[in-house]
Amino acid sequence: MTAAALQRRPIGRLSAVVANQIAAGEVVERPASIVKELVENALDAQATQIQVSIEGGGLKRITVTDDGHGIPAAEMSLALARHATSKIADTADLDGIASLGFRGEALASVASVASVTLISRTAGQDAGAELRVRGGEVLGDRPAPHPIGTTVIVSDLFFNTPARRKFLKTERTEQGQIDQVLRRQALAHPEVAFELKVNGRISLRLPANAMAQRLSRLLTEAFAEQAIVVDEQRADTAAGTLRLHGWVARPTQSRAQADQQYFFVNGRVIRDKLVAHAIRQAYRDVLFGGRHPVFVLYLEIDPTAVDVNVHPTKHEVRFREARTVHDFIFGTLHRRLREQRPEDHGSAAQFAPAPSAPTSFAPTQNPLSLPSGSAFRAHSGAPQASPFRSAAEAFAHHVPTVAEAGDPSAPTGSLPATAPPVPDEPSGVPPLGYAIAQLHGIYILAQNAQGLVIVDMHAAHERVVYEQMKTQLAASGIARQRLLVPEQLDVTEAEADAVERHAQALPALGLVLERSGIQSVTLREVPATLAGGDALALARDLIADLATIDDPARLTHAQHDLLASMACHGSVRANRSLTLEEMNALLRQMEVTENAGQCNHGRPTFVVHDLKSLDGAFLRGQ
Ligand code: ADP
Ligand code: MG
Repeated sequence: MTAAALQRRPIGRLSAVVANQIAAGEVVERPASIVKELVENALDAQATQIQVSIEGGGLKRITVTDDGHGIPAAEMSLALARHATSKIADTADLDGIASLGFRGEALASVASVASVTLISRTAGQDAGAELRVRGGEVLGDRPAPHPIGTTVIVSDLFFNTPARRKFLKTERTEQGQIDQVLRRQALAHPEVAFELKVNGRISLRLPANAMAQRLSRLLTEAFAEQAIVVDEQRADTAAGTLRLHGWVARPTQSRAQADQQYFFVNGRVIRDKLVAHAIRQAYRDVLFGGRHPVFVLYLEIDPTAVDVNVHPTKHEVRFREARTVHDFIFGTLHRRLREQRPEDHGSAAQFAPAPSAPTSFAPTQNPLSLPSGSAFRAHSGAPQASPFRSAAEAFAHHVPTVAEAGDPSAPTGSLPATAPPVPDEPSGVPPLGYAIAQLHGIYILAQNAQGLVIVDMHAAHERVVYEQMKTQLAASGIARQRLLVPEQLDVTEAEADAVERHAQALPALGLVLERSGIQSVTLREVPATLAGGDALALARDLIADLATIDDPARLTHAQHDLLASMACHGSVRANRSLTLEEMNALLRQMEVTENAGQCNHGRPTFVVHDLKSLDGAFLRGQ
């Protein structure tokens, strides 16, 4: 710090120019924030077409042109003044803001740190008016030709605040940020056409009202084609009427980065912890291991139930009924994701290239159907009169257990002794068909009405087991099975401590474990569902997990994660050869299991290659 800075000066009012520059620091952080403010102004002016053009990453020049209602010539200089806005008039208006802007700061802030040319024309004027300002000082005004609407040209950004200029990244980075801003605004406002020009070249052109194309261009083609449609409205909540609509990706389309997540509240792009939490929770069961869901969601809520005046950049909001909003978002998405059954799953993989741009991007939900002649009926694996072998038996190895046949609390997690009733199918062929073979000890091949079904048997079984354990846990705890001979396990002292610490809670999770020494524990009972698996390996992993949980209260939160890792252990391993009956039993079980379309890690459990795609691969009928 310099000596001058330490010297006491008398208190004095800052000049408007300096005050504006300070305020500008909040609103105008970088070129992208200027683009955001200018585009929001255009949207507030009811524009139907917005063109953005940038040079030098926006530092050299940003031009935004719209066809909105324009600014009357008499109000041009006010538009550039601080705290001057046409969007609100008094405090009461702050309570239900419907416009994107309302602070009356953006243009004044930009004008204080750059050269700004404002040209605008309203429907009532024959010609446009132009006003030029640099560093907050008016340079001049004059009539200028312009169609109805407004153009704002910002150049020489931060010419008078070199410190800020220094913090900017490369031209490329700034350009990327601007691109992001435009993407978000374009998703928020499908009814508006957008265009972005970078150094004179068009880099993004999005016509209005072509949402499928917009989704495909701004996210991925797969998302546009396969995303799950959400549209739920609820009246009379504590927060008034709530509507959530948009698209969420199937868990199988999750990403390693949280880079395709768009949430809008009343057309406003927001980042909100509460919303993020609700969405994460909804995906919790179907997404594991640091994967991120993809979504484009719109929340519509009474403007008086949400406060947008909490942050200068208006990126954050505060919901007056936070709990209600959270639960509505969570509940809607959770339900929608759980509704996705195997039969909703379209032909995930195609041999032939996918047909071009879809006209509708509703999820593939056609139930499997078959011509009445049933020419494709499977023969090799059709249900048989004799009951299938019990799966506990089928998968039994390693640890001897006490059989509990006939007991109503007996395991439901293993493959069923008899196939459960299959969904009603006119063809008589269940959705996932009948097994015809096992491939390389990894995949089950089955024939259904559509064509060929390929199932990842480990992934599928893991999901089935996990869902069953979850159901049991929610009911009366996970059914346990006593080991004929208790197992001693050598563990670390910290792990033995953990077993002692969580001893109360373990039986509900299907385990009876007790400390039997400084570094040893005894395993007495295991989840019945998993009795056939390698109980020792399972227990070891679980104990290691437990050791990471200090507070028994936190165990409740971790329960589902623990179940998932148990399910992984308890499910059939690759290279186990299965009989057709065992394979069919698994297929039937998948059909009645929630979320059966993806494994606990969000990967698909099966794919369908329909006859059409097979025909395509062999160029049949072309
Ligand atoms: P705010 O948007 O918070 O009102 P701004 O500084 O961004 O503040 O804009 C000030 C005023 O200028 C707006 O209230 C609006 O009346 C007018 N204005 C700015 N940009 C446009 C535009 N593109 N079309 C029409 N009017 C505009
Ligand atoms: Mg504004």
